[in-house]
Amino acid sequence: MLGKGHAVSGAALWLTGWSWASVAGLAHPRLDVLTIGTLVTAGAALVPDLDHPDARLAKTGGPVTEWIARKVGHAGSLIHGATKRPADRPDLDGHRTVTHTLVFAVLAGAATAGLAGLADDLGRLIAALTGVPALYVFGRLLPAGIVFTLVKLGYVAARANFGGRQRRVRLLGRRRRWRKPTVVAGLAALATYVMVPAGVWWLGVAVTAGCVAHLLGDIITASGCPVVWPLPIPSTVQRYNRKLRRHEPVRVWRTWYLVGTPRWMRFSVGGPAERIVTRWIISLGVLAVAGLVYAYGWMPAAG
Ligand SMILES: [Zn+2]
Repeated sequence: MLGKGHAVSGAALWLTGWSWASVAGLAHPRLDVLTIGTLVTAGAALVPDLDHPDARLAKTGGPVTEWIARKVGHAGSLIHGATKRPADRPDLDGHRTVTHTLVFAVLAGAATAGLAGLADDLGRLIAALTGVPALYVFGRLLPAGIVFTLVKLGYVAARANFGGRQRRVRLLGRRRRWRKPTVVAGLAALATYVMVPAGVWWLGVAVTAGCVAHLLGDIITASGCPVVWPLPIPSTVQRYNRKLRRHEPVRVWRTWYLVGTPRWMRFSVGGPAERIVTRWIISLGVLAVAGLVYAYGWMPAAG
């Protein structure tokens, strides 16, 4: 799946999750958490492809992010080599390895929430130690920075689905192209900065949800995803038995088992089927927003 498809599926997953929780009366997240979280999840849905120097995310920061992507791919290759079983396919470039697992999705979310909380605590500590209360602001810069990066990424990627607007924006030149996403990301970061004392644990949930949405997207495209790593998954293959001179079923175990839809259901990345699936995903997101409007009682009749 392309970056723009991943971005909208991240946003749709975040909205659908909260929509169901709200309609069921389980949770009523604040409006700022809902809106900023939608864009953060859209951006986080691009994060697993940071293991490929050609991915959109790897191009955002020029040589720096491309270098990071190469290193992440290299680390993925090493982990793949160290944990693979004989039946596992050889890894070619480190792409779709460790960053395409549920373990990574959960760790990335936990690390985001943990670091954001830690930075806030550290900021307060510095303020207390130095006796300068204003220094606590430094602790809030990290969560705001995370939000700025992911919202900008998610906004730009998600907008690419609406071709007409993108063409128009491109005609207006390069500066115009980044101005609006930067403003949106800046507002989201500012709101997060103000929100930090009320808790930003939801940032971690958004990052995990984004990564999970990415995995789902890759599962339905050509080659599947090793989502359950490092759990070994058994499967039966036909092997030739030289003594008996015939093929017989043998049970093999794979730690990098590629979870995917049946071969006939898969479609190629960026093809016409992907455009249709992306449209369905956008419809799901719209449906989720309708659910939220209903659950929050924003309809004129309900108000
Ligand atoms: Zn991917």
